[in-house]
Amino acid sequence: MTGRPFVVAIDGPAASGKGTLARRLADHLGCPHLDTGLLYRAVARTMLDQGLELTDARAAAAAAASLSPDDLDPSRLRGGDMGEAASVVSVLEPVRDALLAFQRRFAAQPGGAVLDGRDIGTVVCPDAAVKLYVTASPEERARRRFREVAAAGERTSYEAVLDDIRRRDERDAGRAAAPMRAAPDARHLDTTELDAEAAFSAARDLVDAARARRPG
Ligand code: C5P
Repeated sequence: MTGRPFVVAIDGPAASGKGTLARRLADHLGCPHLDTGLLYRAVARTMLDQGLELTDARAAAAAAASLSPDDLDPSRLRGGDMGEAASVVSVLEPVRDALLAFQRRFAAQPGGAVLDGRDIGTVVCPDAAVKLYVTASPEERARRRFREVAAAGERTSYEAVLDDIRRRDERDAGRAAAPMRAAPDARHLDTTELDAEAAFSAARDLVDAARARRPG
């Protein structure tokens, strides 16, 4: 084995299926997984809890720098509103800078790691052993998200979810700091026509092939 930990970087837009894929790949590899969206959601949550403006860069960077594992409890961070709020704070470069070291430390664990987000292959882990860019059409992503939120009892419409998804895609891909983008060496996986099982099997094959190519 080489000395460098085996890192899998997964990026893509909201509801593309990348989170499920990342969790399953981490299970397959027996390594930890970090959903980096939770970090941005936790910063947004802290700001809202303290009654601060989401655009206050200095306060948001301070919130990012002082996050603790307790702040990452997904049950407080799920939901479209928090996703939207996270997208607003994630435009701020000082917030991204403050979260970078934590993500890189996570990726440097000796047993390897799987990270998913928007800028993992481009900024956080440009040397990852495997980079995946997971997409699906906005309509399909909105259908998936709508099913989820409706099952959770949230009252919304498919059209509202689709609008949210489009707005978030635009903001995430259009920002100056670490925009959502596929790394030039990322493999693209379009899950519009794939169920979770087929998507996992395609991704697992890529990961296994990369592992087999490792020297030593
Ligand atoms: O993945 P999730 O929907 O939880 O992410 C919430 C928001 O956090 C995204 O819309 C994006 O603006 C931001 N984010 C980011 N970079 C990451 C992960 C998430 O900018 N690596």
